Amino acid sequence: SVPLSFFGGIGGASRLGILVKGSNYLEALGDTETVVFDKTGTLTDGTFSVVAVHPETDVDPDLILSVAAHAEAYSDHPIALSVKEAYSGPIDRERIADVEERGGHGVRATIDERVVLVGNDKLMCEGGVDYHDCELTGTILHVSLDGEYIGHIVIADVIKEDAAKAIAELHAVGVKRTVMLTGDRKEVAAAVAAELGIDEYRAQLLPQDKVAAVEKLLDETTGKGKLAFVGDGINDAPVLTRADIGIAMGAMGSDAAIEAADIVLMDDRPSNIAKAIHVARKTMGIVR
Ligand code: ADP
Ligand code: MG
Repeated sequence: SVPLSFFGGIGGASRLGILVKGSNYLEALGDTETVVFDKTGTLTDGTFSVVAVHPETDVDPDLILSVAAHAEAYSDHPIALSVKEAYSGPIDRERIADVEERGGHGVRATIDERVVLVGNDKLMCEGGVDYHDCELTGTILHVSLDGEYIGHIVIADVIKEDAAKAIAELHAVGVKRTVMLTGDRKEVAAAVAAELGIDEYRAQLLPQDKVAAVEKLLDETTGKGKLAFVGDGINDAPVLTRADIGIAMGAMGSDAAIEAADIVLMDDRPSNIAKAIHVARKTMGIVR
């Protein structure tokens, strides 16, 4: 049977906006040694904005935004939303066909009967597009038209206001290792990790690479303590399930992530993770 004070712990956590789906997760949380974060939407607020458009020679910048906005017409990925927001013209859905969104890559679509690729270097390599970029900061969205490179869009995400504090508090409550996983570029990951004081990062990961990364970290944590993973996206559901403790961002997070998680943070503030560990430890202290 479950001791009564566990309900006190779960109730106390819920008053802080931390929903714990069972007393076993509260207990595991008290033993957390490693905390792994997904970057976008978890440590950053997930609302990107376009900061620059770099057309190739003789290409109209408006063409790049128009092509990208049409290719992203059916996507609600934060990157897609930023492109549609930056494009001021109308989106004509009759011009769009064969849309395929590729997780961790970007989008492939046919627009005006021409093949359009909008996404990262992996997508360009696959499509055999000869691309290049000139900007090292920000997330880069390459655009090609019938295999020809027409330019790139630079977008930036904003780090959550309490993210640095969240990492500092985790280290203060005794978490030994913090790791960030992202599908984004190495340059962006390195800058975010350094700014937040995160111990390690793994960049340019596909959704399945994130599962593999967490499995490796679980191996390294065996016998020492528990591993918590914090994420928000549809792609994060398998990783949330794999971790000892899956924590989802509830306000902006996808239904799949909330469903797969063991703990849900109602207000999306990463600093609530250290609070939850604190509540768990207090409860365990009473129970033991
Ligand atoms: P994260 O790991 O940061 O949460 P995702 O796994 O959602 O990010 O995406 C990883 C990368 O895949 C993005 O940085 C982007 O380069 C590319 N990508 C994913 N979806 C799209 C899209 N709809 N349009 C353009 N690029 C995309
Ligand atoms: Mg994500």
